[in-house]
Amino acid sequence: MAVIAVELAGRSYEVRVGHGLLRDLADHAAPFLRKEIVPVVADRNARRHWGATVEASLASAGKLARWYDVEPGEGSKSWRELERLTDWMLAEGVERGDHVVALGGGVVGDLTGFACAILKRGCGFIQVPTTLLAQVDSSVGGKTAINSAAGKNLVGAFHQPALVLADLAALDTLRDREMRAGYAEVLKYGLLGDADFFAWLEENGAAVLARDPAALEHAVATSIATKARIVAEDERETTGARALLNLGHTFGHAFEAETGFSDRLLHGEAVALGMVLAARYSARRGLLAEEASQRLTRAVDAAGLPAEISALNLSCSGRDLADHMLHDKKMDAGTLPFLLLRSIGAAFLAKDVALDDVAQFLDGELQAH
Ligand code: NAD
Repeated sequence: MAVIAVELAGRSYEVRVGHGLLRDLADHAAPFLRKEIVPVVADRNARRHWGATVEASLASAGKLARWYDVEPGEGSKSWRELERLTDWMLAEGVERGDHVVALGGGVVGDLTGFACAILKRGCGFIQVPTTLLAQVDSSVGGKTAINSAAGKNLVGAFHQPALVLADLAALDTLRDREMRAGYAEVLKYGLLGDADFFAWLEENGAAVLARDPAALEHAVATSIATKARIVAEDERETTGARALLNLGHTFGHAFEAETGFSDRLLHGEAVALGMVLAARYSARRGLLAEEASQRLTRAVDAAGLPAEISALNLSCSGRDLADHMLHDKKMDAGTLPFLLLRSIGAAFLAKDVALDDVAQFLDGELQAH
């Protein structure tokens, strides 16, 4: 088991990564579970596969899970679901000193985290991420949110969990497509700050995707360690350090918006293509060597992720895509900061990117393949 500390003044917590941690959930969570009844908010699929393991572990410690089921899908990050969940927590008598367990992917983590941020002005929660994306990204760092009519993740709060338990065995039941989508975020950590890790992924990416235990643990633990370091440096995204985590997300956001935030394109798939385009755009501006951009294209393609816009079968213009970027929540006083690359392992925030130039670049990409 790897243990990574997220160091935050007064709110430090551990992320534990390993195979079979769910079997010992009650032991890991013992310091936080003071009552016999343990509220568990669960993605329906995660519960179907792993609910019995959670129940058995809690039972071994004389505890009983009280389940709240969440329908899979982005639609559950809604005001309606938030209201239903907080009402349920109140009915269950959850108090400020209690901890609610969130079992599932980023949807359940984000929804439960936000509900816990506002319940009685804040109760505790434990993240038990069961997708690769949630393990390497959404469960760590304290961003919680629901979607609103105006866009994704626009209503939320910073609320750090008390503990994150990333059981790699839980990924055995995950669809391969979801596994690949999470892997895009793993690649991101190499690309934004760790050239050695990127090179390791070029060699071992297939083993990670095949869930080879040692490769998977190394990839997940390294990704989390990078995220933990960046979050500790810039918990609330005010200094620019945390913004690096958005590498590929501005381009990616445009593709998600163009495909209606639907299953047609998963978030991680959009991020993969977004990173490739951020690299190509960096190369076009003479900031990044062409060879580095091609290395990324190969790594994304080898993982079975989209590396060309043509894979998306879009019928839109570069301007349409650039217009979506204008609605990105990272807009700041009318300008959109763009994450670009100087090399593999060195991303930076560029503030001089003209959207017209990006639209023209995207037109070229739309026609190229
Ligand atoms: P998800 O939560 O929708 O889960 C993906 C699918 O996997 C669902 O169908 C779910 O039912 C299924 N699933 C979950 N665990 C499973 C398991 N062990 N076995 C089989 N199936 C399983 O998606 P996600 O990719 O985990 O998360 C995406 C969400 O995360 C988005 O809402 C995004 O906005 C959010 N996010 C948040 C942050 C953050 O910092 N808070 C960061 C990145 C993404």
